[in-house]
Amino acid sequence: MSKSKYITFTIGKTKRIALIAHDGMKQKLIDWCDEHKEILQKHFLCGTGTTARLITEMTGLPVKAYNSGPLGGDQQIGAKIVEGDIDFVVFFSDPLEAQPHDPDVKALLRIAQVYDIPMANNKSTADFMITSPFMDSEYNHDVINFQANVMARVESMQKKPE
Ligand code: PGA
Repeated sequence: MSKSKYITFTIGKTKRIALIAHDGMKQKLIDWCDEHKEILQKHFLCGTGTTARLITEMTGLPVKAYNSGPLGGDQQIGAKIVEGDIDFVVFFSDPLEAQPHDPDVKALLRIAQVYDIPMANNKSTADFMITSPFMDSEYNHDVINFQANVMARVESMQKKPE
């Protein structure tokens, strides 16, 4: 097993994209998906329950639906990032509206940072990301080697006091 702190992961040519929008931002995300439909249809799409269904109904794009965000959908998407099943996130959060599931939103943001996942939280970032040359190629990035991390933690906690 590799002991190095980081391990190289590859985001494939076909991206696994999660789409999420708070209620006040859903129309904006639907419009964005419509605008970039030609590119998005080359990738695998998923999203939180309501957002996913609305995008499918309004644009015709197939979007796998997880639970609704306030009922754990953001956490499901976070777990999929940890498992290596989601590698690109577009999350139009609402900066002007308090959310009951704010801790879940923060947790998703954090886990996307830990796993070095590209994540857009507004339209301009999403526009830059979706038009990147990396959308048409593989992308290698360095992610914390979680096996080495666990081993190092176990070893440090097994050290007997002098
Ligand atoms: P929803 O969840 O797509 O089910 O509305 C989004 C969210 O609020 O996180």
